[in-house]
Amino acid sequence: MKIGFIGLGIMGKPMVKNLLKAGHDVIVYDIIENNVKDAVDAGAKSGTSPADVASQVPLVITMLPNSPHVKTVVMGEKGVLEGAEKGKILIDMSSIAPLASQEIEKACAAKGVRMLDAPVSGGEPKAVDGTLAVMAGGDKALFDEVKDILFSMGSSVVYCGGIGAGNTTKLANQIIVALNIAAVAEAFTMVKKAGVEPELVFEAIKGGLAGSTVMNAKAPMMIEGNFKPGFKIDLHIKDLANALDTGHGVGAPLPLTASVREMMETLHADGAGQDDHSALAKYYAKVSGTKIGK
Ligand code: NAD
Repeated sequence: MKIGFIGLGIMGKPMVKNLLKAGHDVIVYDIIENNVKDAVDAGAKSGTSPADVASQVPLVITMLPNSPHVKTVVMGEKGVLEGAEKGKILIDMSSIAPLASQEIEKACAAKGVRMLDAPVSGGEPKAVDGTLAVMAGGDKALFDEVKDILFSMGSSVVYCGGIGAGNTTKLANQIIVALNIAAVAEAFTMVKKAGVEPELVFEAIKGGLAGSTVMNAKAPMMIEGNFKPGFKIDLHIKDLANALDTGHGVGAPLPLTASVREMMETLHADGAGQDDHSALAKYYAKVSGTKIGK
């Protein structure tokens, strides 16, 4: 199939490579030329604007930072909807606000374009391996139609409900990950202050009820004092802000999410916004005067 792909960052680039590997023709667009060059070197063709890409393919995928970027690329000047006619498909795989997905879907529907929101979890390593977890929202018949394409980028592809349900699911994922990282950082700072080695604590508890994929991935980074991203604090602030807006909109208070968001805002103000989200350990180092790691 001919597929358009817009947004060739940390995630988009390897996702394009997996679409190419699965035998699709991919036409790409990004505002950063080097990112386009990498995708073209891997076998993709390039378009001159989102509208140009959309005019050449039956299906466009977007993988952009946040709601305003997706709105600009889809609904803005020279956007996807300028180039797409009735019957075309848009799959937005960015992590954005569920309400924004619904607004973008309305604009698509007005032009006869069908849309799914299908954000992912798993980060760059799973984007490279093609083993992302995809959580999709929108019309179920459309989901069934494009499921195989999603499986060329992910190993788990789950239909979650109507449009916006994919991003609501992703917000739940981001709340659980953020709070879990904060809990690990808080607990490991306490043990360090109490004179017990965090490395031994990790070894002792990782197989018990407190063990988690998050702890396995992030505790070693905290112990090594390695905060190279992975998933950046600034992107996680974006997700927690979207979670708080969504929670407030539906009458679900999120007190723990609000606390961790403020910890991340503190890190951002301290210049650590581009660090991995495991840098929540730096917040606890600041308030306790003790580092978990080196
Ligand atoms: P990124 O910042 O690396 O890439 C975003 C890309 O979008 C960049 O190449 C940028 O140039 C491009 N872009 C921005 N505005 C544009 C426009 N108007 N037109 C064309 N291109 C434009 O971000 P990423 O890490 O690849 O994340 C993308 C999305 O996936 C985000 O919503 C993020 O929350 C989500 N996500 C990221 C990870 C991760 O570990 N990095 C994991 C899961 C989900």
